[in-house]
Amino acid sequence: MSDAQLQFREELIQHGLLLPMGVDGLLGRSGGFERIIEGIDRCATRLGKDDGAEVLRFPPAISQRTFEESEYMKSFPQLAGTVHAFAGTNDRAHAELLAIMERKEDWTAQQKATELVLTPAACYPVYPTLAARGPLGADGALLDVFSYCFRHEPSVDPARMQLFRMREYVRIGSPEQVQTFREMWIERAKALMTDLELPFALDVANDPFFGRTGRMLATNQREQTLKWELLIPITSTEKPTACLSFNYHKDKFATNWKLQQASGELAHTACVGFGMERIALALIKHHGFDQRTWPTSVREHLRL
Ligand code: AMP
Ligand code: ZN
Repeated sequence: MSDAQLQFREELIQHGLLLPMGVDGLLGRSGGFERIIEGIDRCATRLGKDDGAEVLRFPPAISQRTFEESEYMKSFPQLAGTVHAFAGTNDRAHAELLAIMERKEDWTAQQKATELVLTPAACYPVYPTLAARGPLGADGALLDVFSYCFRHEPSVDPARMQLFRMREYVRIGSPEQVQTFREMWIERAKALMTDLELPFALDVANDPFFGRTGRMLATNQREQTLKWELLIPITSTEKPTACLSFNYHKDKFATNWKLQQASGELAHTACVGFGMERIALALIKHHGFDQRTWPTSVREHLRL
């Protein structure tokens, strides 16, 4: 936690752009904030418009089975969120629940898992959906997804929310196809940030894998440069914020979900993720709290 993060959050709330909801990392958005998000969304659409991506939209939850197949718990048990609900079937169970609540005791212990898990990354529902279609064609597949995602990482940093949106393009195919895709999106993202007049840097990164084995996974991810991030200073210049990620999963997801290339070989997958709120916050930080005063060319690029 830093004073700069707290201060920026306070300013965003004062200007009515974000609305506190009583839990760190859980925030409402104003119409003005949403206009910025829509502008970024238009930019992402425009950048990918000639690629013929298939648009898929999923609600912000995946099935427990898909979640288990993803092996998310091996890497990020600290971030996952499961949906639980009251499982009582009679008045007695209901009365018990209300009595526990009345006594201000922990009523959540009564809740049971529902088979829904909150989506940790927008691309997760893509893999089982594509695998169910059978082996890919020679061109592989290209998908466009956009979803709220959940990560249990409460923070006062407005750029680290528990529920936030990710727009992603996902490429599935041969190693060459997915690597070409990733390189192309790194260049497109750099051009976009230049257009939006935002300072940025690209860096090799690693995911926040949990525990001791997690440290090995992180080192491996960095050594193989499987994750690149586009960083923009928001509340710190020394520790800029990752606003877009360019991930190469090799054949990990294809192994988990049995995704095959036309040849029968396992597919490789990659995704580019736009952190929508983070890009919006970067724009606000660098151009001001009132979007009407932003540079004309930036407003034009966002079609604001
Ligand atoms: P990742 O799957 O971790 O690479 O996330 C994709 C993108 O989502 C990141 O580059 C960020 O821009 C954004 N993101 C990740 N975690 C958060 C968070 N807690 N709050 C807001 N945006 C996030
Ligand atoms: Zn992804």
